[in-house]
Amino acid sequence: MNYAIPPPDPVTLPVADSDAVFPVLRVFCVGRNYAEHAVEMGHDPDREPPFFFMKPAVAVVPNGGSLPFPTATEDLHHEVELVVALARGGEGIPAEDALRCVFGYAVGLDMTRRDLQDRAKELRRPWDLAKGFDRSAPMSAVRTADAIGHPSRGAIWLRVNGQLRQEGDLAQQIWKVPETIAYLSTLVELRPGDLIMTGTPKGVGRVVPGDHLEGHIGDVGNLHIAYEG
Ligand code: MN
Repeated sequence: MNYAIPPPDPVTLPVADSDAVFPVLRVFCVGRNYAEHAVEMGHDPDREPPFFFMKPAVAVVPNGGSLPFPTATEDLHHEVELVVALARGGEGIPAEDALRCVFGYAVGLDMTRRDLQDRAKELRRPWDLAKGFDRSAPMSAVRTADAIGHPSRGAIWLRVNGQLRQEGDLAQQIWKVPETIAYLSTLVELRPGDLIMTGTPKGVGRVVPGDHLEGHIGDVGNLHIAYEG
């Protein structure tokens, strides 16, 4: 292939207990998927159809580590989320078949420039750069469904500087993983390499330079990041 410029390296996540890596194609994110978080953001917790936004694959930061503090925000927020990694895709996937598409699961952070998002909501503008900025999606290694099954319950929490900020259980998700995959596959043809961030429990809040974040989900694992001071 005669590329006009060097093609970018694929974005990858490590696979836990393996030397393989998972190649990332796209990142879909579910909005308001835990009732108490919907309420804290000023919305009705009733079961409306899920809605989605996206982050570019290059926003994924594998393994966390130390990150520069994002530009253009005075109100960076943390949202800890279960990430679903797809090995298979398709269109119109029935919910009862959806888990067959799943390769594994990771712990992710949907980092959000809340001030830019609030302004976008006010002005009815898109959320892209409130949500899909550089390094806005730190993620742990992917743990395979072969190893841990398909977690539908289990603690999900986030600590900032050792202090508990977010706490919930995967069982509180309004739209379960099979339903989320099925619904999303009516909107786009899902593909191998797609990631789905499945929403955050209550307790979202501000992060400042120098903060250490630790996210945890049941059998899925832990994610550590630190923002440079
Ligand atoms: Mn989110």
